[in-house]
Amino acid sequence: MNKDRLVNQFMDMVQIDSETGHEREMADYLLETFKNMNIEATEDDTKEETGYGAGNIFVRLKGDADKTPVYFTVHMDTVAPGKNVKPSIQNDYIISDGSTILGADDKAGIAALIEAIHTLKESNTAHGDVEIVITVGEESGLVGAKAFDTNQLKSRFGYAIDSTGKVGTVVTTAPTQSRIEVDIHGKKAHAGVAPETGISAINIAARAISQMKLGRIDSETTANIGRFEGGTATNVVTDHVHLLAEARSLTANKMEAQSNHMKETFENVAREMGGSADVSIEVMYAALNAADDSEVVRTAVEAIENIGRTPDLISLGGGSDGNVFAGAGIDTAILGLGYENIHTTEEKMPIEELVKITELVVEIIRVQNDKEGGA
Ligand SMILES: [Zn+2]
Repeated sequence: MNKDRLVNQFMDMVQIDSETGHEREMADYLLETFKNMNIEATEDDTKEETGYGAGNIFVRLKGDADKTPVYFTVHMDTVAPGKNVKPSIQNDYIISDGSTILGADDKAGIAALIEAIHTLKESNTAHGDVEIVITVGEESGLVGAKAFDTNQLKSRFGYAIDSTGKVGTVVTTAPTQSRIEVDIHGKKAHAGVAPETGISAINIAARAISQMKLGRIDSETTANIGRFEGGTATNVVTDHVHLLAEARSLTANKMEAQSNHMKETFENVAREMGGSADVSIEVMYAALNAADDSEVVRTAVEAIENIGRTPDLISLGGGSDGNVFAGAGIDTAILGLGYENIHTTEEKMPIEELVKITELVVEIIRVQNDKEGGA
């Protein structure tokens, strides 16, 4: 591994604007970079479907056919303000000038993968196929990952490199989440002249919500009404309100049961009160649930110990690209890479963690290589 090359690679990439939806320049840079390294990299054809700045980039570092392939996923988009990032190094941290984010989320992961490939090649380390998916639109709903055709992957397991926590952190569980959209319809009336002829959509929604189980449902399940809007003036019995809600659980059945409970409560109360409720439930992403004795977790644990860190297996409350790949049946865990204060202009990247995540990627591939092939 070449630390200066790694840091320079990272500094170069954070200076390329790639706010979500505007990934073109970054995608072109990556295609060019892999081409110069003589590595197969292609952009998929999902740009049209997603309407984002580019397709996802799929990289395949060819290895021995009898070795088990492994995949990694990272994302090329950043949150705003991410234009004209001016990185500098201060006290062993890479920081922005304070007017923008840094973009370590997730370009530190990309830099680690690029340096890991250089390292593998230069050390002539034997390995199986290493597949890398660099997505667009992660920050606005995992858009690129959802559009990516996972049939292109030979790997049956791998890692998203995109979590807070020092290198050594492994997210093994993260919930599935639903988005519940509710339209409640009542009947309009003058609130002073003839209130008895009206049916208040606000009252329907309020009564339904009061009958619902919400908040912490059990140790793996939560639910929330996040938005409630409607109504006009005090003298109008409101005939329509619009609500947005969610349910999450580490177990898909529980998330579905909670979502259906919310839907049915809105529908039943609306019916009882003479109105109606249109409720749609959309599953935003699947749960990520890697067992402690699964290959994906065991490989990570062994590699983390080999680079001198202590494995810390944790559960997350939200979803990421890793959930999407896990939902497609590819066993996935999410690796912490030590970035700090992400999604703020205080974002910073400890150089030590940048080095360690690169070591970890190399070590995961090496550990995997020492095992029996299964491809
Ligand atoms: Zn991220």
